[in-house]
Amino acid sequence: MFYNSTRGNDSGRSAAYVIKNGIAADGGLFVPESIPALTAEKLAELEGMSYPQRAAEILGMFLTDYSKEELTAAAESAYGERFGECATAITLVGGNSVLELWHGPTSAFKDMALQIMPILLSLSLDKCGEEKEALILVATSGDTGKAALAGYADVPKVRIQVFYPSEGVSNIQKLQMATQEGANISVCGIKGNFDDAQSAVKRIFTGKEAAEKVGEQGLFFSSANSINWGRLAPQIVYYVSAYLDMVAAGSVAMGEEINVTVPTGNFGNILAAYIAKQMGLPIKTMICASNKNNILTDFFETGVYDKRRPFYTTSSPSMDILISSNLERLLYFVLGAEKCAELMKALSEKGVYSVGEDVRKALAADFAGFSGDEAATEATIARYFDMGYLCDPHTAVALYCADRYKEQTGDSTPMLVASTASPYKFPAAVLRALGKEAPEGDFALIDALEEISGVCPPTGLSSLKGKAVRFDRVIEKEDIDSAVYGFAAEKL
Ligand SMILES: *Cc1c(COP(=O)(O)O)cnc(C)c1O
Repeated sequence: MFYNSTRGNDSGRSAAYVIKNGIAADGGLFVPESIPALTAEKLAELEGMSYPQRAAEILGMFLTDYSKEELTAAAESAYGERFGECATAITLVGGNSVLELWHGPTSAFKDMALQIMPILLSLSLDKCGEEKEALILVATSGDTGKAALAGYADVPKVRIQVFYPSEGVSNIQKLQMATQEGANISVCGIKGNFDDAQSAVKRIFTGKEAAEKVGEQGLFFSSANSINWGRLAPQIVYYVSAYLDMVAAGSVAMGEEINVTVPTGNFGNILAAYIAKQMGLPIKTMICASNKNNILTDFFETGVYDKRRPFYTTSSPSMDILISSNLERLLYFVLGAEKCAELMKALSEKGVYSVGEDVRKALAADFAGFSGDEAATEATIARYFDMGYLCDPHTAVALYCADRYKEQTGDSTPMLVASTASPYKFPAAVLRALGKEAPEGDFALIDALEEISGVCPPTGLSSLKGKAVRFDRVIEKEDIDSAVYGFAAEKL
């Protein structure tokens, strides 16, 4: 299977090339030239398999230049003991099947992709005969940074540099990144928001000059953000797997449709659900859940994507995004490369584009946009806690939107809701929502939450206590370029 750019001027690339390079030469994102079919027979075959086996099968449909043995070994290593008992878990609460995707080492769903992607990248270096080492640049709103650091720390022939908004992530998230071990890593806070970080990284990434400069140091740029297809492909797996788990639990009959609600930021997670649907997984509607930064809600309602609006910092920081990169892939699938390139140009030059009424209607056959503000988030955390379920603010936004969708449409199709982070990553916000005193200090917060909920904190978070802070640098957003060159020039 080959991959083409969403903007039409880079095509016929192998999966290994796409994973190695991250972004297309014309600034577009790579997409598979066709979507493989998930037949009823194939679904039945996957039913009796473990998560790693399912992952190897589904990844094999997209990453055709990786052998079955390579993918099986990669999936076993990624989703084995580092995920505790199981890669994913479903809890039935409030009429929703809540799909917990955060049982990996960094307690966010990003681990589902970033535990396996480093293995796929290492393989791709060999497959492509690449002699340079990879310099992975990451812009993060909190969770990707830590998950990428954990995945790539001390991976041979790779170094990784992470930029995060210094005032836009939770304390625990900051601590997770600042204490990361490994000789091949660098972490920088920036004075700016996630979009600033992401735009700078994308610009450096696609610029000729920067590539030449780091090339002189024997390095080439790669990406661990969800602009890289290597992030998206592993995310398709858990929708298929969750569906089979729902069938096994008796929540749906084989072949029966489900709806899926996804708390959305960069549109990567929900795009993976869309691709699963295109493959043939019986998904009816995807509910795109946004927080107060509800640009996607407006887009699905009006067909206009307008980033000229205030940016809000919320208790669900991984959704505080105004430029949802992966929406570009959806536009490509629906409109084709030429129109997609035109819209992306309008977005970067004018800050706005419109897809028109016909396309808006076509999108409405697959997607519904809903949003919940801070009050809704808090109320939902409290309401679900009363029902016996402790959730984080991102998951709360999704649960709120799932429930509003059902209420407004009367649609009683079984609902799968993606739960994307452990509540212990955001203990201050969760305690506040529960109307509890929030004590001083990150570990006091974790202890207080454990005391009232009786839920064990993930060891990856409680073990942060006592770890030395290695990175505390905060830079101006204009200095991101020089930070990259500085790190590239370091002898590790
Ligand atoms: C990254 C993240 C999201 C948003 O996912 P996208 O793929 O960027 O849409 C939602 N919740 C949490 C906890 C995250 O870390």
